[in-house]
Amino acid sequence: MAHRIAAIPGDGIGNEVVPAGLTVMAAAARRFGFDLSWESFDYGADRYLRDGTTLPDADLAHLSEHFDCILLGAVGDPRVPGMEHARDIVLGTRTRLDLYVNLRPIKLIHESLCPLKGKGPRDVDFVVFRENTEGMYAGAGGFLAKGTPGEVAIQESINTRRGVERIVRAAFLWARAHDLGRVCMSDKHNALRYEGDLWYRTFREVARDFPEIEARHLYVDVLTMEMVRAPEQFRVVVTNNLFGDIVTDLGAQIQGGIGLAASANVNPETRRAMFEPVHGSAPDIAGTGRANPLATVLTVAMMLEHLGEGRAAREVEAAVSAAIAEGATTPDLGGSLTTDGVARWLCQWLERPETLR
Ligand code: ATP
Repeated sequence: MAHRIAAIPGDGIGNEVVPAGLTVMAAAARRFGFDLSWESFDYGADRYLRDGTTLPDADLAHLSEHFDCILLGAVGDPRVPGMEHARDIVLGTRTRLDLYVNLRPIKLIHESLCPLKGKGPRDVDFVVFRENTEGMYAGAGGFLAKGTPGEVAIQESINTRRGVERIVRAAFLWARAHDLGRVCMSDKHNALRYEGDLWYRTFREVARDFPEIEARHLYVDVLTMEMVRAPEQFRVVVTNNLFGDIVTDLGAQIQGGIGLAASANVNPETRRAMFEPVHGSAPDIAGTGRANPLATVLTVAMMLEHLGEGRAAREVEAAVSAAIAEGATTPDLGGSLTTDGVARWLCQWLERPETLR
């Protein structure tokens, strides 16, 4: 049966990197002999400005029923300064499909890209499980006396036992399935005493179900320092929505920058998933052919893994690694190829007989 992908290129460079990613995915499908089909949807700023559509419930239900997963490019446009459409499309999909795991691999593909002295691909290779539906991003809060000198703004962090337990458990299950041996939970329970207490207690309790896995705790400020000092100590990190947002951006830098950071939003029980490169719509370079497609290509590799095409996923990663080694990249990584040029290079690499690689 064909894998069916719903593609939402979105705004700015999303319209360049998503077609590039799909082209590479099609080359992988030809090489590994699986069927693939995709359909593109025009949700994004243009559509929002034209008719007010963001991503209605009925449309999302259609995507989730008729496709195996969603590939999103980027949403964000200077013409929509309030980002209403982006909030609905990205945060709305995560919450309405209950994609509670934000999975972010922090994997250095080539030594030349790491800003840390003396660190190579063996040192920077872990995954972050970021809680994706609760915490500070749940949207709870309000204003008092808005716009007056006495204004009060309240932003509340929502943490449910169920929400915390399922993300912590997902991290342990991943560590077990991939034989990774350790999980580090990061919070700030010395200062954030209520949510921190729930996270810490839940982590300790869940850890008892995984006696073969080392369960470690680090305050998030210590985690950021340790990720820079000695990233090789991490295999799986699990944390809340806000801290996860920050530590994964730090992770993106130690793996070679925003042009290489991939992500998945997944519900492991329903298997529903949305995949997206971490970078934004980059309006400053949109339409110039300078957008680096590698984050999207690595995101496509995660999607292939999710679809059960593990061999193809590893081969796509190997193609990205070869492109970097040979300087077949866009200018942000020091090369001189265009977005499409990089995609073509990767397709040719995937299509060459193994003996020539
Ligand atoms: P958002 O506000 O949605 O996060 P953004 O594009 O302003 O969007 P980033 O994605 O953090 O924010 O990008 C910051 C800058 O990094 C961009 O303006 C662009 O110059 C550069 N950049 C981001 N992604 C890429 C890419 N894939 N290839 C090349 N340069 C990129």
